[in-house]
Amino acid sequence: MHGVRAEGDWIVWAVPDFDRVVERASLPNDFYLRELMEVNPADLAAVAGWMNRYGRLGGSIDAGSWDHDEYSRLEELEEREHPQYGPWSLHGDLVRLHISEAQAAIATWVACRRPGGLDELVETEVTDERLAAIAAENGHDDSGYPRTLDALRSATLGLRLALLRNALRYNLAAFSVGLGSLTDRQPSVLSVAFLQLYNHLAEDATIRTCANETCGRDFVRQRGRAEYGQNRTSGIKYCTRECARAQAQREHRRRKAATARPAPAPTKTAPGPHAEERFV
Ligand SMILES: [Zn+2]
Repeated sequence: MHGVRAEGDWIVWAVPDFDRVVERASLPNDFYLRELMEVNPADLAAVAGWMNRYGRLGGSIDAGSWDHDEYSRLEELEEREHPQYGPWSLHGDLVRLHISEAQAAIATWVACRRPGGLDELVETEVTDERLAAIAAENGHDDSGYPRTLDALRSATLGLRLALLRNALRYNLAAFSVGLGSLTDRQPSVLSVAFLQLYNHLAEDATIRTCANETCGRDFVRQRGRAEYGQNRTSGIKYCTRECARAQAQREHRRRKAATARPAPAPTKTAPGPHAEERFV
């Protein structure tokens, strides 16, 4: 896509030139774990930058929200055209929805890969206040809404997993059996991001946490000078070479500071039996 930029509460772009040769673009490794998880859903300029580089954003309003009024509002937004750019536009609310739903789905997947991760993920939503709010909403209703914290926990878990499955289903549709090549189908940024996730799921990949104390990012493949597709996946602790270097320098500085520190002076009080150990 060309000339994609944020304008007001929209992302707009240039009218496509259909004679142009379509250029191929590749998402970087672990795009779904890094750029997609780190972007602020309201940062339209950042998303416009992706669209310039990789193509349309993608995402489906059918993948998540089940609230009827909200769904009608989103449907209307999908049909609405920018007053000046017409159909070459995407409303900011749709961008925020697609990005935040993708982030929620990816967070569920990352949590699935950690022992106890899923329980930890939903714990903030499993509270007495939430339970009371649900009871208040369903006051006259005898249907099976959760009445205990355990029931609420399993309902919340079920919902998170259903949203992850839906995100995969809608975003992977471009790669299913069907007519037309991938070039014709023009898979979107989000569909390729979820293909990366699906490939990690299929290969049972290990999601690591970067050992650089100031980073802590989730990753599968280390990024560095390796050629595209050749990054290391085993025995690595850092998400990038820069993180490995930063942590090594930090540890070096700490060791230096520890050896430079003067040994504590002996105290006047009676030394314990292990006093000499302090000087070792
Ligand atoms: Zn890192």
